[in-house]
Amino acid sequence: MVSLHEADVVELLAFIDACPTPFHVVDRAAAMVRSAGFVPMDLGESWPDASGSCFVAHGGSLVAWRHRPEAPSFRIIGAHTDSPNLRITPRPDTGGFGYRQLGVEVYGSPLLNSWLDRDLGVAGRVATRWGTRLFSIDRPVLRVPQLAIHLDREVNQKGLLLNPQHHMAPVWGLGLPTPGEFAAVTAEAAGLDAGEVLAWDAMLHDLTPGTTAGPSGEFIFASRIDNQVSCWAGLQALLNDPIATEASPSAVLCLFDHEEVGSMSARGALSPLLPTVLERIAGGRDALLPMLARSLCVSADGAHATHPNYPERHEPGHHVFMGAGPVIKRNANQRYATDAVGEAAFVVACEQAGLDHQVYVHRGDMPCGSTIGPLTAATTGVTTVDVGVAQLSMHSAREMCATSDALDFARALGAFLRCS
Ligand code: ZN
Repeated sequence: MVSLHEADVVELLAFIDACPTPFHVVDRAAAMVRSAGFVPMDLGESWPDASGSCFVAHGGSLVAWRHRPEAPSFRIIGAHTDSPNLRITPRPDTGGFGYRQLGVEVYGSPLLNSWLDRDLGVAGRVATRWGTRLFSIDRPVLRVPQLAIHLDREVNQKGLLLNPQHHMAPVWGLGLPTPGEFAAVTAEAAGLDAGEVLAWDAMLHDLTPGTTAGPSGEFIFASRIDNQVSCWAGLQALLNDPIATEASPSAVLCLFDHEEVGSMSARGALSPLLPTVLERIAGGRDALLPMLARSLCVSADGAHATHPNYPERHEPGHHVFMGAGPVIKRNANQRYATDAVGEAAFVVACEQAGLDHQVYVHRGDMPCGSTIGPLTAATTGVTTVDVGVAQLSMHSAREMCATSDALDFARALGAFLRCS
C-alpha cells in the first residue's frame, strides 16, 4: 500500500516550486527515480536488456519503468510536464518609452490576465556547442504591468481584452533596449560565458511559492497544478510500486512535453517516444504486440471542479467536487479516451485504494478540451482512461486544488499499477 501523509504535501509543493519549466520537471523526476535505483538509458544506444528499473530523459519528456521479463502486459501512467505560459522570443531585447522589455510568445492557452502584475522569474535551458544546460532566475526580474483603471474606465463592465502581441511584453529595466542583454543574463544564470549561448528555450514563471491554504489547509494554491500534480502523483505511484510477481504487469510512467500545444513534436504524446520505448523494453515487436493488447493506460491530467460562482457552466448531472476523490473524464466524441472498460479498471483501482471517485462530463453546448489520453490510445492501441485531480482556475498562472485530492490521486495511481 502506498504510504502518503500530510508531510508529502510539503514535498509536492517543493516539487512544483523547483520546476518552472518542463526541463526542470524532467531533471527533478530523473533525480528522484535515479536515487531510487532506476538506471538511466540512452536513446542513442542499443538496449540489450531493459528489464529492471530504468528511465530515459528526452528534453522535457521522461519515461521510467519497472519491467519484469515475464510480465504479460504494461500498466502505463501518462501525464504532461508543460503548462501554459509566456516564452521568450529568439531576439527578445526590445522596449520603448524609457523601458527595456522582452519579447514573448504565448505558449498554449493561458488565462493571460493571470500573468499581469506578478513578480516573474525566467527559466529554461540554453544550448551551446557541447550540449544544453538548465537555468532558473528565481528573482523578480520581470513584470507585465496592468493598465491603470483610469485609462480603461469600462474594464470591469466590458471585460479585459489582452492582445498577445501588444499587451504581454514584460518590462525588465529602464533605458534603451540592449541587443544581447538577455543572452548575457541567461548565460550568467547558467554559469556560462555570454558567447557560449547559441539558443534558448526560456519561459516566465510566477515566483509566489506554492502553499496549503484555507483555515484547515484543505487547499493547495500553486502554479502549474495542471499538470505537475499528476507528474508528482505518477512518480509517487511508480516509486512506491512494490516488486511484484512475474504475473504482474510492468509499470511505466511517461511524462510528455508539449501537451498544451497539441503534442505534435519529437517528444510529445504524438511522437514515437512511448511506442518505441515500449518496443525496446519488451525486447522487440513480436513480444510487444500481444503485451499491448493486454495493457491499460491511465492518462492523468487536471479535471474541472464545479465553480461555485459559475455552476451554470457545468453539466448538471456530473458536478465534480473538490475533496471528493479522483475524477474519471468521459466524452462520447473521444476528446477523452475513456471507455467503459477503462472506466471500470480505474473504478476498481479506486476501490482497492479505499477511495471514492467522480465522473466528469463537459456540457453538451460547450466544446470540450482534450489531453494526451486520446493521443496515447491512438499511437499505442492501448485501452486508456482519462483521470485527474479536480481543480479550479485551470490555465491560470496560479491554480488551486484540494490537498486531499492530490494525495488520494497518488494512492489511486499506485493501486492502478498493482491491479491486474
Ligand atoms: Zn493539463
